[in-house]
Amino acid sequence: MYKRVVLKLSGEALAAGRGFGVDVTLVHSIAREIAEVNASGVEVAIVVGGGNFFRGVAEQAKEMDRVSADNMGMLATVINSLAVQDAIEKTGTHCRVMSAIQMHQVCEPYIRRRAVRHLEKGRIVIFAAGTGNPYFSTDTAASLRAMEIKADVLMKATKVDGIYSADPMLDKTATKFDEITYAEIMQRGLKVMDMTAVSLCKDNKMPMIIFNMGQSGNIRRVVQGEKIGSLVTS
Ligand code: UDP
Repeated sequence: MYKRVVLKLSGEALAAGRGFGVDVTLVHSIAREIAEVNASGVEVAIVVGGGNFFRGVAEQAKEMDRVSADNMGMLATVINSLAVQDAIEKTGTHCRVMSAIQMHQVCEPYIRRRAVRHLEKGRIVIFAAGTGNPYFSTDTAASLRAMEIKADVLMKATKVDGIYSADPMLDKTATKFDEITYAEIMQRGLKVMDMTAVSLCKDNKMPMIIFNMGQSGNIRRVVQGEKIGSLVTS
């Protein structure tokens, strides 16, 4: 169904129940799933968050200069990217980390044409350090990279199985949207991702599928076009 995808993994998705750090077993199972999808001929680029280590807007960063705190958050995404790269390479799949903040000893710098070339050669690419700018999120980075590399779809892996009218953990009457538009997300003020990311996808007509990462096999189901999660269109 899709030829080239950008998969957004939040930092929390790598931390399992603990919410902090990297759960190695979990990372390996995610990596196996991604490698399987890649082996089936789908070009996969990944954007990893950093919330399992540090967020610029977190309570512990309240007294900090926002730019310094965001720099810490971006460095956290590099740590996660290296963990995911290592796990993917263990499956025998080639994988490159490209960082928006240059750190030559650790990974490649992000160069769009080179990223596309890696994908064409069947390598998995992980975009680290978000956009490289403070005041942004990795959701915005995922939207931006999806547009830059002309991905067919942005796949956002979450803890819930789609977009709901209210938080399904708190509100039992919340209903799930199988399909929804970016405009509707904005109107209803749904907290799917930050508004910068939503408006970027809306303006550039980038479709997005939000799905549950907890169920194994879901990444493959989404790329094969199975109707799971919520589809967001312009
Ligand atoms: N961040 C940033 N610029 C970016 C992307 C991320 O400054 O382009 C920082 C920001 O402080 C953010 C942190 O990195 O809180 C971790 O990213 P995010 O919160 O998006 O991670 P996730 O929630 O997906 O784990």
